[in-house]
Amino acid sequence: MTGISQALATIRAAIENAEARFQRSPGSVSLLAVSKTRPVADICESLACGQHEFGENYLQEALDKISALGDPRLIWHFIGPVQSNKTRAIAEHFHWIHSLDRLKVARRLHDARPAHLPPLNVLIQINISGESSKSGITAGELLQFINGLKDFTRLRARGLMVLPEPKHDFEQQRLPFRETRRLFDEMNAAGAGLDTLSMGTTQDMEAAIAEGTTLVRIGTALFGPRR
Ligand SMILES: *Cc1c(COP(=O)(O)O)cnc(C)c1O
Repeated sequence: MTGISQALATIRAAIENAEARFQRSPGSVSLLAVSKTRPVADICESLACGQHEFGENYLQEALDKISALGDPRLIWHFIGPVQSNKTRAIAEHFHWIHSLDRLKVARRLHDARPAHLPPLNVLIQINISGESSKSGITAGELLQFINGLKDFTRLRARGLMVLPEPKHDFEQQRLPFRETRRLFDEMNAAGAGLDTLSMGTTQDMEAAIAEGTTLVRIGTALFGPRR
C-alpha cells in the first residue's frame, strides 16, 4: 500500500472506532480530504482508493486542479475564506461551500450559480470561539442569517461549519463542538432543515465525532504535514 492508501485506511478505521465509541451510527460521519497545497497526483491516488470528496482553500489553486482532473466523480468543497470577487468561480465549479458568513456573498453566489447545476450546498461558518480575527458569524446572528438565505433559491442551506481555536485537552476540544451542535438542533427546531455539521480536523476529529459532527475535514493525517 502507498502512504496515502495506508493513511486513508487508518483514518477510516479511526472514524469507525469513534462512531462506535460515542454511540454514533456506522457511516454517519463522512470524510472530506483537505487537499490544499497538495499535488493533483495525491488527489488521483485518493480517488483510486474511493475518496471522492475534496476540500480546497485557495481558489486559483483549486481551479487549476479541478480543470486538470476533469473527473465527474469528484465532489469539490470550498472551505477557505471567500472574497466577494471570487464568488462566480466558486458558484460555477464547486458543489459545496463551508465558509459562508456574509449575505452579500450569498447573493453573489446565488446570482452566479449556473442554471444547469443543482443549487450550491452551503454551510454557514460560525465563529464559535469568539475570536475577533477569525471568520464566521456569531451564534446570535444565525437565525436571521438563515432566514436571509431563504430568498436565494440557487443555494441550499445544509448546515454549519466551525474551526475552533486549537486545544490539546479532549474535554476542552468538545466544548465548541457541543455548542455548535446545540445551535444546529435549535435551528432545526425552528424549521431550518439542516443535515450537515462540518466540524473536526486532524487534531480534534474524535471530539467532533463525540459531539455529533457529520463531516470531518482531514488534511495532515491523510497527506502528511503541509510544507
Ligand atoms: C487546512 C484546513 C483543514 C485541515 O486541517 P488538518 O489539520 O490538516 O487536518 C480543515 N479545515 C479547514 C477550514 C482548513 O483550512
